[in-house]
Amino acid sequence: MSTMETFRMLIGGRSVDAISGATFESQNPYTGESWATIPDGGPDDVDAAVAAARSAFDGEWGAMTGFARAACLRRLGDLIGQNAERLATLEVNDSGKLYREMLGQLNGLGGWYHYFAGLADKIEGAQIPSPNPNYLVYTRREPIGVVAAITPWNSPLLLMTFKLAPLLAAGCTVVVKPSEHAPASTLGFADLIEQAGIPAGVVNVVTGLNRETGAHLAAHPGVDKVAFTGSTATGRHVGQAAMENLNPVTLELGGKSPQVVFADADLQAAANGLVAGVFAATGQTCMAGSRLIVHADVHDELVRLVAERAASIKLGNPMDAETEMGPVANQPQYEKVLGYLDKAREEGATIAYGGVAEESLGSYFVRPTVLSVKPTDTVYREEVFGPVLSAVTFTDEEEAIKLANDTPYGLAGAVWTKDVHRAHRVAARIRAGSVWINAYRVLSPSVPFGGFKQSGLGRENGLHGIDAYLETKAVWVELTGGTRDPFTLG
Ligand code: NAD
Repeated sequence: MSTMETFRMLIGGRSVDAISGATFESQNPYTGESWATIPDGGPDDVDAAVAAARSAFDGEWGAMTGFARAACLRRLGDLIGQNAERLATLEVNDSGKLYREMLGQLNGLGGWYHYFAGLADKIEGAQIPSPNPNYLVYTRREPIGVVAAITPWNSPLLLMTFKLAPLLAAGCTVVVKPSEHAPASTLGFADLIEQAGIPAGVVNVVTGLNRETGAHLAAHPGVDKVAFTGSTATGRHVGQAAMENLNPVTLELGGKSPQVVFADADLQAAANGLVAGVFAATGQTCMAGSRLIVHADVHDELVRLVAERAASIKLGNPMDAETEMGPVANQPQYEKVLGYLDKAREEGATIAYGGVAEESLGSYFVRPTVLSVKPTDTVYREEVFGPVLSAVTFTDEEEAIKLANDTPYGLAGAVWTKDVHRAHRVAARIRAGSVWINAYRVLSPSVPFGGFKQSGLGRENGLHGIDAYLETKAVWVELTGGTRDPFTLG
């Protein structure tokens, strides 16, 4: 049994246990052992965190200039870089993701805080033309207030950062509630907040084993905005809870993203993009390119290339530098992925590679899987959230576009072709928030990210990212000092 690490929540600048004193254990999916003790916060802890966030918003933080907030964000970005190894290790222990991927992600994560620091001192209103010369009218962009940020287990710090960096730049305060399946890295990250010079209560982190903790936060009347990343099913509940308080909500939800490969594509490059799209992070990414829509003439060749690469993927300890794929992150998710593979077999899928658990490694390993399927098959239609690629064929461009859009989701997609006209034509018609041309799974703090259709509401990152945390106020100034007919408008 490894030694247990103990974590505490951050509420009002203090490192605290749950009010009830309850804890739960976080399991390392690779070793199968519990490795961390986590506070099991509930509604009382959420209430305390929301009150702390409100008092920081009404206090020192609310009075700070954008220039001072930018300095905090820059320091926080630098601190993440300095603590990247520790934070990456926490992420790996909790979720089984590759250390080298998480270290790369953590080394880049400071860039989000630096990018939004650059916006914090550029939040500008405008002078608005008034048809009545007696008035000067201008707008102010003001922070929306206290934010509830609820995150999933697959990339806790990245997905929290999509919210935290812009909301701090905007001048908001926050209560973060990470997933019960991967809570430790967010608690480890919370240690950096004070060092960055961010006042007490601006950032609060509450953890809890039960879904009620998140539900209580999403529905909290003391919150002004809800930002959620997670499944479409939970997103619906969160959206309804926010709407009860008439709060704005940003939802980043599930996906079933298409990768459309035309016959003229560079098949080696496409195969590499398919591997990046569906096997990186063991396929546990919202933007997984899990539907391969390939021209019938090159189906066999491309499936062979991807299956060969899948067969060579090195599964193993996520901490080892040469490992390419770790385990699925937790037992319910492992069972869900295997359930989809059983269903695929029942529905007649052809397995080019994988399709089974990798039992020789213990814990929750699933072989990277390449299937040829029918467009009606469950594995092709539903989000698996695992290393499973399902291929279907097309014969002309219209059919390819129809297949790509035949889904309730619309998070991402890709077009692989050497024809520049076709590339842009098809990219324009894929109904998704991000489309890559001859590439997959590239992200930047400056580029808006989010979903069409049931993949979400609103956008994170880029200039749109900060808008989600700002209100617009119109200010009217009477210039003449005179009086007017009180019974008319304007
Ligand atoms: P989930 O929906 O089960 O949980 C997400 C978070 O919501 C967790 O913190 C959970 O505790 C909390 N929660 C659960 N019930 C709640 C409720 N009723 N009210 C408020 N909060 C509640 O999702 P998950 O299994 O952790 O993550 C996987 C899902 O997330 C996948 O569907 C994936 O596609 C999606 N995802 C989307 C994006 C994106 O940016 N679009 C990114 C990553 C993951």
